[in-house]
Amino acid sequence: MLTRKASVFSTDWSDAKLKVGHVVLFVAVVCISLIAISTWGVFNSLEYHLHDKETEMSNLSKTLSSNIEATLTQADTVLIGVKEQLEADGSDAESLKKLEELLKTQQKRLPQIHGFFIYDEQGRWLLNSNGIIPAGANNSDRDYFIYHREHTEPGPYIGPSIRSRSTNEWVMTVSRRINHPDGSFAGVTIATIYLNYFLSLYDGVDMGANGLINLATLSGHIMVRKPFRDSDVGLNISTGEVFALLKPDVNSGTATIKSFIDGVERVIGFRRINGYPLVVIAAFDRNEILADWRSESLASLIISSVLLLILSFIGYRLIKLMSQQIQAQRELQASQKNYIEANKALGLMALEDGLTKIANRRQFDLFIEAEINRKKRKLDGTALIMIDIDFFKLYNDHYGHVRGDECLKTVAAIIKTHVNRAGDLAARYGGEEFAIVLTNTDYVGAFLLAEKIRLELEQNKIEHIKSPLGVVTISIGISTLAEEKADTPENVVDTADKALYIAKSNGRNRTIISN
Ligand code: GH3
Ligand code: MG
Ligand code: MG
Repeated sequence: MLTRKASVFSTDWSDAKLKVGHVVLFVAVVCISLIAISTWGVFNSLEYHLHDKETEMSNLSKTLSSNIEATLTQADTVLIGVKEQLEADGSDAESLKKLEELLKTQQKRLPQIHGFFIYDEQGRWLLNSNGIIPAGANNSDRDYFIYHREHTEPGPYIGPSIRSRSTNEWVMTVSRRINHPDGSFAGVTIATIYLNYFLSLYDGVDMGANGLINLATLSGHIMVRKPFRDSDVGLNISTGEVFALLKPDVNSGTATIKSFIDGVERVIGFRRINGYPLVVIAAFDRNEILADWRSESLASLIISSVLLLILSFIGYRLIKLMSQQIQAQRELQASQKNYIEANKALGLMALEDGLTKIANRRQFDLFIEAEINRKKRKLDGTALIMIDIDFFKLYNDHYGHVRGDECLKTVAAIIKTHVNRAGDLAARYGGEEFAIVLTNTDYVGAFLLAEKIRLELEQNKIEHIKSPLGVVTISIGISTLAEEKADTPENVVDTADKALYIAKSNGRNRTIISN
């Protein structure tokens, strides 16, 4: 029974351990997930920030490209008019006068225009929309002039950015060739556009501390760059990474590249200017994007860490609580086990004689009561044997109580060896008296058993010099449960006692059956 209980307990404990294991696993999984999600979020946010900036730079380059195209086209449209008129009417004084009026009006209308000019085939100034023509001024050395003299194409030519000879300001040139009626070179008409106008276009755009906007020719020369530095104008950046990306079929794009000029790594968007051999590049410092991302990530990492701490703490408390509960349960079960064992011992104590280890008086009483009740239903014999040690007071007096107890144990042991059938009971009735209940036994069977016990003790020869017999002996009285009369435990014991009394008075060490 106890073994079975113990195995039940151990199952409970391993169950409890399993549950704690589950909680530990659950808390660990949640913590790891939180770390994974935070890490993923941080890296995802970096991707997002970079991609977002790429889109922004792409959109910006698109807007700037349209604006620059419009700025140039407005100037070029005026040049087309000038070219057509000159080719039709020639460049006499009257014709030039009319053109001057027209160009002055257009210049007022177009804020980007620094000036409109006309030069003859020798490079001499024929017209300046700003009025004064410097004496002996000649522009035949200018890049655009040489270009038009040598190329018959009618299209507009964008020259490199230059300082104006009339005002010393940075300008960009758009020019067209003028032909004589026979198609030979008759001169150049040109519009100069303030570089400042482009810079002012970019003013409203937030490019961070290190961002830049660059307008360059397809051949890779800087026209105007923000932030503006004189030394950057005309710089050849054709070996830079943007120009490697700008294949003939590529109109626009985005990339992360290192600047040719300052070595800063930037996220860029670039786009060609429709109809002109130009490209605009908008670029944002990658480190500034990373700084934004870092401060955002730090905030999210702090929140995740706090969450992780709270979670770990709750998990730790939960696991500790569970462990404490399991410990308490274990202690409870251990004390339950002890209690059961103690109870069992108490139960045995309640029915067993402490000295002789055979049934005690209490068990005898219960047994005889039950036997009488059983007997009322069954017609078989039950016998009671009462045993009393002879001259035991003298034995105690002579040999002492300890030896007396030893003697009691010996007598009980002898009795026990003879009473071994299931259903029979041997008990210490009290003091140096013993009782045996034999079921399914008549007085003859009881007598034979009683004699066996008596003779065995006699043969044991336990010295008793105060007894006339010289050894420890017993006297025995036997009664049987009669069917006809209503027996009680008392009168059955009483009948056997009477027989025992007769055995005593007849000289002791004998067995008497009641009649
Ligand atoms: P009789 O032959 O007439 O039975 O004489 P007796 O001396 O045996 O009779 P009595 O009943 O007067 O004495 C019983 C003695 O048994 C008294 C007591 O000292 C002793 N006794 C009773 N219980 C115990 C016990 O548990 N241990 C010991 N050592 N002696 C006991
Ligand atoms: Mg006695
Ligand atoms: Mg006695």
